[in-house]
Parts: sequence; C-alpha cells; structure tokens
Amino acid sequence: MKIIRYLDSEHRVGYAALQEDGSALQISGDIFGEHAVTKKPAAVAKLLAPVQPSNILCVGLNYRHHAAESKAAIPEFPVLFMKLASAVQNPGDPIVLPRQLRSNEVDYEAELAVVIGRTCKNVSRDRALDYVLGYSCANDVSARDWQGKWGGSQWCRGKTFDTFAPLGPSLVTRDEIPNPNALALRLDINGEVLQDWNTNDMIFDVPRLVEFLSGSTTLPAGTVILTGTPQGVGFARKPPRWLKPGDTITVTIEKIGALSNPVVEESCG
Ligand code: ZN
Repeated sequence: MKIIRYLDSEHRVGYAALQEDGSALQISGDIFGEHAVTKKPAAVAKLLAPVQPSNILCVGLNYRHHAAESKAAIPEFPVLFMKLASAVQNPGDPIVLPRQLRSNEVDYEAELAVVIGRTCKNVSRDRALDYVLGYSCANDVSARDWQGKWGGSQWCRGKTFDTFAPLGPSLVTRDEIPNPNALALRLDINGEVLQDWNTNDMIFDVPRLVEFLSGSTTLPAGTVILTGTPQGVGFARKPPRWLKPGDTITVTIEKIGALSNPVVEESCG
C-alpha cells in the first residue's frame, strides 16, 4: 500500500491509500496501530511528508564510493548522526537556504528512508524488518561548511537547519518491498542526473542498521532512519555543485516514487 499524509481544505490532517488510478481513499485509525482503508475518497488539498517522525536517525558514509569521494575510511560500524524532527519538509515545499547562519555550501544527498512501525529495542538482524512499517524517499540536505569547519567537528548543526529533511511523497509499506536493498535510486537537479546508484551497495544493509541502531536504544514507532547516500554529491564534484535558488531537486527511488523540492533563499520577513 502507498500511504500519503495530507491536509484537506479545512486544514485537517489525514492519511490515505493511493490507488492505481491516482485517486486516494481515506484511512481510518492510526497507521502505527489498527487502521483500515475506507471507501471514502480523500480530498487532498496539500500533500504532507508521509510521517512526522518521533526521531530521525541518520547513517553517514554507508556507500563505498561515497566514503571514497569523502576521503573517509570504510567504517567498521554504522556512523550515526541525527536530524531534528523539525527539519522535515513536505514534498513540493521549498528547501530554504538559511539567512542568519549563512551557508555557502548547501548540498544534496538522495537517501532511502526507513519508517519504524513498531517500537523496538535490541532487535536481531533476522527479525529487523518485522518492525518496519515502510519506506520513503529522503533528501539529507547538508550545509557542508557547518558540517565541517564551522561545526566544531559535529555534523548536527549543518544537517538540521529547517527544511533540510524533505520526505515523501508517500510511504510504501514493506509488503510491497520485500528487499529494501535492491532499489535503484537517483537524484537530479533541474533534470541533470547527479546520483544514480542502487541500495544494494550499502555497506550496512537495512536489517543490520535496525539491529545496530536498536541496540541499547529504543526506536519508537515513527522513527525515521536515513540510510546514507551514494556517490555523486555536490561537494565531491569539480567544481562543487552547491544548491542555489531556482534549483529543483528530485529524488527518485524504484517502487516508491519521486520527491521534488524547489530551492529558495530565506526571505527577510
Ligand atoms: Zn546522508
């Protein structure tokens, strides 16, 4: 099932199941608990990110060639960092280049997002996918200057500006994607393809990530895991490809869909 989260014309939040013909049927109940698809059409006025996450856990350097282009060693354990839930942006809404903490080096990263469906801790690799509700597309937008030289060696500052976690357009439940490590993923800016790879190249696959991240740490239902990006990011290009106002970035993942966001400068209001 493809689940969308939306606002209706009266600004009420709802969930709906996308149908083959593009229409959507309302879902009653809690998508993390008991829920059912109704026969009522959903009046979608605006698409939202498919979940508002409790936590966003991110894994860095999880593709070999990306580790190489970052001039980093292949990690022995998954490299964890975090984004604030407030960084989530809806499909179609803008990535905003910050004004007060200026960045001259805002970059893109196409990533498979994993949504935890049932609260879990100390999960074994072979049971890990039982706790996954589904998958979505994400863009791990990153201010490289704040991730590096101005960030005191912590990645969090530059990774978690408002709007730096676009998510969507839908959540595809795991029954439709039995193997999340066999999906083509691609990113283009204004139609120019800059990342084009496959999730089968992750150093730590999705079951291993859930096992590792849930080790000694509870993952509440609604946790979103960003699983790392392949090679082709902006900072590794010659010359570097930084985001600029007027760009439109699209992350496309096989069996999930396409997540597009324009880039704008923060207004002075
Ligand atoms: Zn990333």
